[in-house]
Amino acid sequence: MASKRQIDVGGVKIGGGAPVAVQSMTKTETADYDATMRQIRAIADEGGDIVRCAVPRDKDVEALRRIVRESPIPVIADIHFNHTLALKAIDAGAHCIRINPGNIGGHEKTREVVDKARAASVPIRVGVNSGSLPKHLHELERSDPVEALVTAAVEYVDLMESLDFGDFKVSIKSTNVPNTIAANRLLSQRIEYPLHLGITEAGTKWSGSLKSAVGLGTLLADGIGDTIRISLSTFHAEEEVKVAWEVLKALKLRERGPVLIACPTCGRLQFDMDTVVAEIEERLRRYSEPIEVAVLGCAVNGIGEASHADFGITGAKNEGLIFAHGEPLRKVPQDRLVDELFAEIDKSLSMGRVIVDESKAAEGAEWLSKIEEENAGELTPERIAAMEAAAAAEEAGADGTALPMAGNGGTTRRVVLDEDQSPTAGRRFTRA
Ligand code: SF4
Repeated sequence: MASKRQIDVGGVKIGGGAPVAVQSMTKTETADYDATMRQIRAIADEGGDIVRCAVPRDKDVEALRRIVRESPIPVIADIHFNHTLALKAIDAGAHCIRINPGNIGGHEKTREVVDKARAASVPIRVGVNSGSLPKHLHELERSDPVEALVTAAVEYVDLMESLDFGDFKVSIKSTNVPNTIAANRLLSQRIEYPLHLGITEAGTKWSGSLKSAVGLGTLLADGIGDTIRISLSTFHAEEEVKVAWEVLKALKLRERGPVLIACPTCGRLQFDMDTVVAEIEERLRRYSEPIEVAVLGCAVNGIGEASHADFGITGAKNEGLIFAHGEPLRKVPQDRLVDELFAEIDKSLSMGRVIVDESKAAEGAEWLSKIEEENAGELTPERIAAMEAAAAAEEAGADGTALPMAGNGGTTRRVVLDEDQSPTAGRRFTRA
């Protein structure tokens, strides 16, 4: 169940139907102002809405004072064990503080922090972690870890309410993905406050991204979760933000920049598609428009499943086709495919609509239907899926011509993949 309540963290609304906010946490020593600000800017540049900084010492609070003034995004102070630091962080201007009432030193100290936060209109994130549940829940944790997590969270919510404080969000986190999913589902039924989602110590960029995408994606798809952080074991916090955005974009919860889709390739592939995909991905970084670009390794299936894409290419050995909204635009030599694709994208964005040259489009359509005819008998995975889809309700065709305006100058950097990244041995193309 989506949260009903909403809080405001330095201007970013969380909960109550607001867009799911993306968070990350700096990995630098907060007291190192320059390093921390560099990281905050990198996080903001990649689309982080909020950043959290660890504040374990007085000198971190001192730096925090400057950081919150200069940061382009709201800053949450992360406090453990020392309620005095929480009080100081509020004085320093933190837009939110994160505390775990279980380790902040008892109810009286929690009350002090809450009173100060209320007076300063600073919201609190109440955090519960599977590794630090209160003692009286340890037995329950052994028999039912999900119920133990939820009970701890509800107890903290009760504590906040008993202190007449409602300006908070809650996070319950575990390293265990199924437990995180189950606990947040249960908690969302028991409280109305915004939920922060994360998988604790998820792991490296590869495994951590997957674990987080599975755990957070499952909850977000159910409408649970108001802000997310992908925790990755990398110094580069902005990588967490990129992954978070991919999760939100995949679920169509938020839009940010282009979406690249590409077929997985198979034995029908006759050109160096890995390099083409890498190059398109690189060049798309310059665009802020939420355009969807598809890359198909062959035209055997026609435009098929990529017909919803704003733009796309499908290749063959010597020639390829550029298409837009499921309709051919023109065929081009294979080695010009990427440049011509971007020429079409730029032209369309600057004109605000897709420009169709009827004769070139007809030539492209003829090329496409010839390939489709030649391969009519082939039951590719896409064709089987298309046959299944045809049995279902037909999707409305995209009108597809209105696109946002462009502004994507800059030089083009060629992408070069080596044999380790993308072997050509055993495939139907070579790479110069
Ligand atoms: S058949 Fe499908 S997976 Fe194989 S190259 Fe063509 S588009 Fe890609």
